[in-house]
Amino acid sequence: MKLTHFPVMLAVVILGCGSPDSTSPTSPDTPTTPVTDSLSIHVALGVPIDGNADDDFIIRRTQYQLSYSGIRNAANWVSWNLNAAWYGDAERSGSFLPDPDLPAQWYHPRTGDYTNSGYDRGHLVRSEERTRSGTDNVSTFYLSNILPQAPDMNQGVWLNLEYWCQDLCQKHNHELFIIAGGVFHTGRTVGNVVAIPDSCWKIVVVLERGQGLRDVTTSTPVYAAMIPNIAGVRSDTWDTYQTTVDRIEASTGYDFLSAVAKDVQTAIESHAGTFTTDIPHPATRHATRDR
Ligand code: MN
Ligand code: MN
Repeated sequence: MKLTHFPVMLAVVILGCGSPDSTSPTSPDTPTTPVTDSLSIHVALGVPIDGNADDDFIIRRTQYQLSYSGIRNAANWVSWNLNAAWYGDAERSGSFLPDPDLPAQWYHPRTGDYTNSGYDRGHLVRSEERTRSGTDNVSTFYLSNILPQAPDMNQGVWLNLEYWCQDLCQKHNHELFIIAGGVFHTGRTVGNVVAIPDSCWKIVVVLERGQGLRDVTTSTPVYAAMIPNIAGVRSDTWDTYQTTVDRIEASTGYDFLSAVAKDVQTAIESHAGTFTTDIPHPATRHATRDR
């Protein structure tokens, strides 16, 4: 059923850009004409591609780019740019919303799917990372940007990774390119609809503020984590689960950083990033809540 509508959906995405922000002309990234992916900062290092494009419904937003699976009712990946300018004073929206840009005939995950499931509504793009404006923040609360995360994951080690990214931006003025998603093996769901990831992964490419694709070299620091979505990981720092992009590519079937020259890609995807004074080891930070 879903697949037969794919050509129509693709046309909608291309023509409509899937953007909820077309009413905010002052935003510099708001597309005014149909855009190619190369024009979105969020996929500047490449659009993740796997062998089955039928299960990648692409949603382009001013705030991030997302690939959604109509089979799992969950994101395949979300890709976003992050630097200090994305952090602001906007209030946390707080209300989780069905994504208005999913095809009308598809199931739209809703907040009630998570009720009494034992799983948190875990952000992929973190709420705090989109606080320039209320509109930015609301975009992180679309349930397409949410995966069921064990509370120890969401409020513990995943948050530790989010804090680490925040420090790289705010204390070290880095430019980050981030991709995140889940790995799904067991077919478990919340609400009988939304797939529960067995692990959640994140890839972080660390550049200097203002840099982009052309600045990625074989010595660009790249960090990757594959974290089990289970109880007991609350007080871990994320590097406990550090891995390589190659391994995440093998687990998910996606090619990441595909716009990077092949020889550079081979180099930076095959080894785990090391910590330096400018990119410090993640310290334990205790939060009272996730934003
Ligand atoms: Mn979270
Ligand atoms: Mn790759």
